[in-house]
Amino acid sequence: MTKRVAIIGAGPSGLAQLRAFQSAAEKGAEVPEIVCFEKQSNWGGLWNYTWRTGLDQYGEPVHGSMYRYLWSNGPKEGLEFADYSFEEHFGKQIASYPPRAVLFDYIEGRVKKAGVRDQIRFETAVRWVQKTDAGFDVTVCDLPNDRTYTESFDHVIVASGHFSTPNVPQFDGFESFKGRTLHAHDFRDAMEFAGKDILIVGTSYSAEDIGSQLWKYGAKTITVSHRTAPMGYDWPGNWQEVPLLTKVEGNTAHFKDGTTKDVDAVILCTGYKHHFPYMPDDLRLQTANRLASSDLYKGVSFVPEPDLFYLGMQDQWFTFNMFDAQAWYVRDVIMGRIAMPDKAAMEADVADRIAREDAGEDDYDAIWYQGDYIKELIADTDYPDFDVEGACQAFKEWKGHKKKDIMTFRNNAYKSVITGTMAPIHHTPWKDALDDSLEVYLQN
Ligand SMILES: Cc1cc2nc3c(=O)[nH]c(=O)nc-3n(C[C@H](O)[C@H](O)[C@H](O)COP(=O)(O)OP(=O)(O)OC[C@H]3O[C@@H](n4cnc5c(N)ncnc54)[C@H](O)[C@@H]3O)c2cc1C
Repeated sequence: MTKRVAIIGAGPSGLAQLRAFQSAAEKGAEVPEIVCFEKQSNWGGLWNYTWRTGLDQYGEPVHGSMYRYLWSNGPKEGLEFADYSFEEHFGKQIASYPPRAVLFDYIEGRVKKAGVRDQIRFETAVRWVQKTDAGFDVTVCDLPNDRTYTESFDHVIVASGHFSTPNVPQFDGFESFKGRTLHAHDFRDAMEFAGKDILIVGTSYSAEDIGSQLWKYGAKTITVSHRTAPMGYDWPGNWQEVPLLTKVEGNTAHFKDGTTKDVDAVILCTGYKHHFPYMPDDLRLQTANRLASSDLYKGVSFVPEPDLFYLGMQDQWFTFNMFDAQAWYVRDVIMGRIAMPDKAAMEADVADRIAREDAGEDDYDAIWYQGDYIKELIADTDYPDFDVEGACQAFKEWKGHKKKDIMTFRNNAYKSVITGTMAPIHHTPWKDALDDSLEVYLQN
């Protein structure tokens, strides 16, 4: 009997899984029946922009954490699909830091070509997954029809992302703060804060990028409060880094070193939680946001229940091509092309990954660690081999460019590790490029 496989989520990870199975089918293999459940009305995950915040039209938590004017925060040369280059999609090489709409178009191009859309049930939210003797029962809600039903599967692949459920700390005085308080998850448009004094709490990518957006779109001042260490870039003049926020009184923010700053809004860039409300305790991944996730053999197979897989759960230097490497690997396990070891060996694999990550000293070690992980997975599958080392080098250059000037790093160009061609320098420096539409970005 044909196996049935459920994929939860049609973001870049879930789409990588659909493409992985389709590429096997294209080569004549008999593949399982795939059903992908996606709670939004379109694919692309976080790259599928929504203006909504809070709850959506069906009362579901809004998944989107991306905002208007978001440009890739790393070079596209680090994430390019090995089986579908930017040049194949756009018919030419494009500049290295595409805005969200351009990357959405690229992600969509590959799966349109693969013809996998009919395997996705859109506006269908997964409510519960249960282990059974035969496999898994997956209970979902068809949102427009408000109809809940259950189907059985041999395998479940979780690809629901982990940058959507905000981690929201409390600070004294927030209740009576006279300005606006929001988490990065609900940030949508920097223009709203033009002319204002903004406090950002945290030093994550969100802090760095939302602060940069605020600067670009005319905020009066940007103050970033850190718990452990400042980000340390050479920020523009209206930007300062301060120690941790201790309390807010009226409109005045107080910091650990006794200094204060009057602000109009506080944006909490305090990270996200891995959150799987549809999973019972025995199937739920519980991990910190790190490179070696807890309980995942080869970073994908859930050790307590190896027929269950999680994609894209690591902290991410690499993204799309790492999700591909994982998806091809998971496909081959499910199709019996790769054998799984016993539980003790799986646990040893997880412990070894954690120890190797812990031994790393800096971001460069982390980049190469994740690059090696990709190489390890693709060595076992037919995912097209690509120059992972070259992609690591692009990330290294990117870090150097950020250190040199955090407000101009996106003006640089890198060489594709898939086609070997150099990206053009973008026609407009990032700080002056206020229109981030696909049409304007692709102009020569
Ligand atoms: C603000 C921000 C900026 C980023 N910028 C970059 C960048 O510049 N470059 C980069 O490479 N990466 C970036 N990322 C990282 C991002 O995580 C990845 O690019 C990518 O989107 C992860 O893909 P995913 O499929 O694992 O998860 P997601 O993109 O989160 O997709 C998960 C999908 O699962 C669906 N889903 C969730 N719960 C359910 C449910 N119960 N039932 C059914 N469907 C469900 C969601 O609707 C969504 O479509 C950024 C992330 C954030 C938050």
